[in-house]
Amino acid sequence: AKNRGRNRLRFFNQQMQLDVTERAVLTNRLRTALGNQELYLEYQPQFNEQQGMIGAEVLLRWHHPEHGHYAPADFIPVAEATGLIVPIGNWVLMQSCFTLADWSNDARYQHWQLAVNISARQLLDSHFVSGLADMLAQTEAPPQRLLLEITESQLLDDTELAHKQLYQLARMGIQIAMDDFGTGYSSLQSLKNLPLRQLKIDRSFVRDLLDDSSDEAIVRTILALGKSLELEVVAEGVETAAQFKALHQLGCRQFQGFYLGRPASLEQLYTLVNERS
Ligand code: C2E
Ligand code: CA
Ligand code: CA
Ligand code: CA
Repeated sequence: AKNRGRNRLRFFNQQMQLDVTERAVLTNRLRTALGNQELYLEYQPQFNEQQGMIGAEVLLRWHHPEHGHYAPADFIPVAEATGLIVPIGNWVLMQSCFTLADWSNDARYQHWQLAVNISARQLLDSHFVSGLADMLAQTEAPPQRLLLEITESQLLDDTELAHKQLYQLARMGIQIAMDDFGTGYSSLQSLKNLPLRQLKIDRSFVRDLLDDSSDEAIVRTILALGKSLELEVVAEGVETAAQFKALHQLGCRQFQGFYLGRPASLEQLYTLVNERS
C-alpha cells in the first residue's frame, strides 16, 4: 500500500509539473495574443420578461493558432496575475465603446445596454477612470448605456480606492453591476456603500432553483433586496424554459442564459433580433 501511495504521489507530481509548464506556455502566448489579433469578443444577449432584447454582455475570447481556444476561466486569472489584463481590458473597453457608439446611431439598438467585465487590476489602476473617459469621448459612446460588471471579492484588495473609482465612474453616468451576486463576501455592506444599478444573480443559484428550496429562498431574497433598494436584478445562467418561468414568477424581470441566447458575434446577434421581430 505504501508503494502504491508513492507511485500515486509521483504521478500527481508529474501532473503538477505539466500544469506548471502549461501555465508558463500560456503566459508567454498571452503576452503576444493581443498584438497577434488572437483575441476577439462575443456578445451574450440579455432579455426582458417579454423576451425582448435589452442588451448584451461582452465576453472575451482567445483563439491561439496552435492550441485553439483557451477558456476564459484558464487565461483570465493569468492575465490578472501578470497585469496583462490592463492592456487587454483597455482593448475590450475600446471595442465595447465602438459598439455602443454604433448602437446609439441605429434606432433598432439605441436602447440596448452593453455590460463589460472589469477585473480588480483594472479598477485599481490609477489611469482607469481617465482612460475610460477618453474612450467614451473619442468614440462618442453614451456612458449611460455602459454597464461595468464588478465582483465583491475584487473590491477587497483596496476598498477605499475601489469605492472612489466607482463613484467617479457613476458621476460620469456609467452604470455599475455587481456580478455573481451572493457568492462573495460582505454582500450587504457593498449594497449599502456602492453606487450600484444592478445585481446579477449568480448562475449557481439558478441552476438548482427548481430542485433546491434554499436556492429558491436565496433567489427570492435577492429579488426582494433589489426591489427595496431599487436595483435591477438580472438572472444569469438561465438554461431552460422551466427556469425562466420560475424566475419570472418570483418577480425577476431581466434574464441571460443559454435558453434565451448563447454568446455570439455581433452579426449573429443582429440576425437573431431581426428574425424575432
Ligand atoms: P461571468 O462574468 O460570470 O460571465 C458569464 C459566463 O457564463 C460566461 O462564461 C458565459 O458564457 C457563461 N454562461 C452564460 N449563460 C450560461 C448558461 O446558461 N449556462 C452556463 N453553464 N453558462 C452560461 P465565459 O465566457 O467562459 O466567461 C467566464 C468568466 O470569464 C466570466 O464569468 C468573467 O468572469 C470572465 N470574463 C469573460 N470576459 C471577460 C473580460 O473581458 N474581462 C474580464 N476581466 N473577465 C472576463
Ligand atoms: Ca459577468
Ligand atoms: Ca456572472
Ligand atoms: Ca464569474
